[in-house]
Amino acid sequence: MPRPYHRRKQRYSCPQCGLLVLNHLSPSHAKGVYHRYPKKVRTLLATDCPNFAEVARRLGVTRQYVSQIAAQIGIPKGRKTWTPEQRKAQALERNPLLAELVQEAEKHGLRPELVRAKRKRKGGPYLRREIQIGKSRCGIKKLFHTYRDLYYLSRPSQRHWDFVLGKLPSGWMVIPRKKFPKRSTGFIVGREKRTSGARSHRHDWPHYLNAWDLLHDS
Ligand SMILES: [Zn+2]
Repeated sequence: MPRPYHRRKQRYSCPQCGLLVLNHLSPSHAKGVYHRYPKKVRTLLATDCPNFAEVARRLGVTRQYVSQIAAQIGIPKGRKTWTPEQRKAQALERNPLLAELVQEAEKHGLRPELVRAKRKRKGGPYLRREIQIGKSRCGIKKLFHTYRDLYYLSRPSQRHWDFVLGKLPSGWMVIPRKKFPKRSTGFIVGREKRTSGARSHRHDWPHYLNAWDLLHDS
């Protein structure tokens, strides 16, 4: 059986948000982001966001939903895409650790370059935890100590990384990936190695602390 009922119903403007609806009290409309925050959505669509995907991200909804709303309130499609500069600024703004690393590396005379996510079309976003410095691909990690000042590190699974850059409160560890033991290791900054041999997680790697020179050479 067809359901002519839906066809006969007239759309009207929601008294609260002004969107054309069949029933402004229905959950699908009343719980929608536009009904709840019409001003915010309009502002985002009108000004600061360059595309629907970004508006969707900020509102926590799908891009399709945003594009539906945009069509209903008369915002044209085909808006401008992000320039690489905007993309970079976005990546740095979203990833404080990445931003911190870029600053620190530049301070040491290096030229870090953000790396685009692979298999994405041109103009896609940049990776958050990876960076290119000279010829070296570097992974970025924040390091946490387990007890006192012993840090644990596992061998990174990303084979294409040449270095791991690990953030400590006292600076950055610059560790060549090939120096990692097979599984994990631990180190204590600023202390000489006491035990030798079997206790492999008592490696002390103080010489990798702020060893930016390694990246100059590579
Ligand atoms: Zn409404």
